[in-house]
Amino acid sequence: MSVLEKTASQKAIDLENKHGAHNYHPLPVVLSKGEGVYVWDVEGKKYYDFLSAYSAVNQGHCHPKIVDAMTNQARTLSLTSRAFYNDMLGKYEKYASDYFNFDKLLPMNTGAEAVETALKICRKWAYEKKGIDVNEAEIIVCENNFHGRTTTIISFSNDPVARKHFGPFTKGFIKIEYDNIEALKEVLENNKNVAGFLVEPIQGEAGVYVPSENYLKEAKALCEKHNVLFIADEVQTGIARTGRLLATCGNCSCENKDCNGTPDVKPDVLILGKALSGGAYPVSAVLANNEIMSVIEPGTHGSTFGGNPIAAAVAMAALDVVSEEHLAENAYRLGNIFREELNRYIATTDTVTLVRGKGLLNAIVINDSEESDTAWNICLRLRDNGLLAKPTHGNIIRFAPPLVMTEAELRDCISIIIKTLKEFE
Ligand SMILES: *Cc1c(COP(=O)(O)O)cnc(C)c1O
Repeated sequence: MSVLEKTASQKAIDLENKHGAHNYHPLPVVLSKGEGVYVWDVEGKKYYDFLSAYSAVNQGHCHPKIVDAMTNQARTLSLTSRAFYNDMLGKYEKYASDYFNFDKLLPMNTGAEAVETALKICRKWAYEKKGIDVNEAEIIVCENNFHGRTTTIISFSNDPVARKHFGPFTKGFIKIEYDNIEALKEVLENNKNVAGFLVEPIQGEAGVYVPSENYLKEAKALCEKHNVLFIADEVQTGIARTGRLLATCGNCSCENKDCNGTPDVKPDVLILGKALSGGAYPVSAVLANNEIMSVIEPGTHGSTFGGNPIAAAVAMAALDVVSEEHLAENAYRLGNIFREELNRYIATTDTVTLVRGKGLLNAIVINDSEESDTAWNICLRLRDNGLLAKPTHGNIIRFAPPLVMTEAELRDCISIIIKTLKEFE
């Protein structure tokens, strides 16, 4: 190939750079096809996907059952808006509510919208059920959280890049240290206006921080004591990713009996997104019981696309796949193998400090400064070696393959990862 002739990949990258807003910094690889745990670039090179679109593609790329549900529904009825009923939404609401053991579901599209919805429900509940003075409600959030990109959500982010020059910010949030039960206790005991506690069961974007053993359980107990809603953002951790149906597995239908390690917690408000559609379509949801969800009345909240028939069909198929293919169990088993093998390697090297995670939501910390580009360079080399992953922050690389992976494939991936890391010793 002549040096002047650009590759198909370079052309696609140039187009995005020239005509798209630069709100991401993608790894330079241009994908055009996916199937199961694999993706292919425009030149035909095959990779293991070790990010799964931030855990949206838990069920694997282009899962036939999900694609069938989507295409069949797309040919039948795609959108009615909520001005009229449709014959799929109720079925889906019943299906998903039973699946996660809540009374009701409120359908939205993206994760950030579902988080916004949960915050609105929480505030309304605070005024109408708890009796907090109007406009005085506070919601506790955690440092280093990631809940999305809307103006309100970034108001309580502490990522300077996510916030800079996007003010003024939404009031009514109190930030405490993650995994610090005393900090939560202190705020709850000293502030009668607290309406809710919004928390990620594992902080994914922050770098896969797993809180200590009893944190969520104790936090839930404190919330109950103070009549405060425990709101779990399981957009990333949910739907089998961490080796259980939910990372806060209160009373779920997960078949995995061997899930000791995470305390049982049933959130008052559950936020789902990403894998709720298996990555086929933007589908998110908020689930809660009647006494909470009843604060939502006609006209108080909505979305043109939320709860559309395609979304409903896709989500039911995506949840079916999770239980039919025992994805929670598989994530649990493969996750243990992954950390065991990585730990075995880490004991022999200075390149990697540690591996942490649950199920197939894991991260390694590279032994270099947060400002270094070592993790980025490792991801470039992983790409060259046929595996796609991306740093979360500076020196942390998240590893989150589709949950449909087999043990043989996982072991192949582990050898690619270790071989690559050895190139950086
Ligand atoms: C991805 C994510 C969101 C936001 O979801 P979008 O669909 O990108 O808006 C919210 N919370 C968590 C924990 C996430 O991982």
